[in-house]
Amino acid sequence: GTATRDRLRIAIQKSGRLAEPARSLLAACGLSWRESRDKLFCYGESLPVDLLLVRDDDIPGLIADGVCDLGVVGRNELDEQAGERARNGLPPAYRELHGLGFGQCRLMLAVPEEWEWQGPQQLQGLRIATSYPAILAGWLQRQGIDAHVVELSGSVEIAPRLGTADLICDLVSSGATLAANHLKPVENLLDSEAVLAGPAGGFDDARAGLAQMLLRRVDGVLQLKD
Ligand code: ATP
Ligand code: ZN
Repeated sequence: GTATRDRLRIAIQKSGRLAEPARSLLAACGLSWRESRDKLFCYGESLPVDLLLVRDDDIPGLIADGVCDLGVVGRNELDEQAGERARNGLPPAYRELHGLGFGQCRLMLAVPEEWEWQGPQQLQGLRIATSYPAILAGWLQRQGIDAHVVELSGSVEIAPRLGTADLICDLVSSGATLAANHLKPVENLLDSEAVLAGPAGGFDDARAGLAQMLLRRVDGVLQLKD
């Protein structure tokens, strides 16, 4: 993944919560693209900055492999995959360059609403369902708690009702999904938002200047907003 390139390639979510705000932000930074037929690759017109439209889960890996230079992805996803790499003994491959102020949510522990919450010690020996096993395992370890992490790829909030877990660790924004499932949030593991991510090592060709210019523009656009 160290091929030299004179164009910058940014991965953004193809569809979902971060797709439209990511495109709007990059457009506000002065980027424009030629509409492509397949809609997976958008060729940059105003600047040599191309877009790759992908699933959010794939973005950290695409940066790690050097397929993309930058990505717009939730901090939750970036931290999870960084934690997974660390657990597998791999070196850091990407880093957060700038928080983007959209896609805000929290990764929280949520318990059945009838529980009386007394603190993390209560979790000893319990089963916790989550799609973020690395972040959860790291948090449990720092709390000194031995609990069972049950990894689920979706529908985490119904696990307690199904009996596959005692509680959950999931993304929360309004809290409506938790309430609908008779769960209540009790501990915040991560404050998340969309971030601009890049490789741990930076660039040593024309991409360095392009990335620097883009970061300055992102900074300017975000400052105008607040
Ligand atoms: P993809 O098809 O790209 O894999 P997805 O279903 O995994 O899509 P989305 O549901 O669009 O992804 O969420 C993308 C990101 O939006 C999350 O990783 C998170 O950073 C952020 N987000 C903000 N609020 C929420 C929320 N309430 N639930 C889930 N994600 C949220
Ligand atoms: Zn996803």
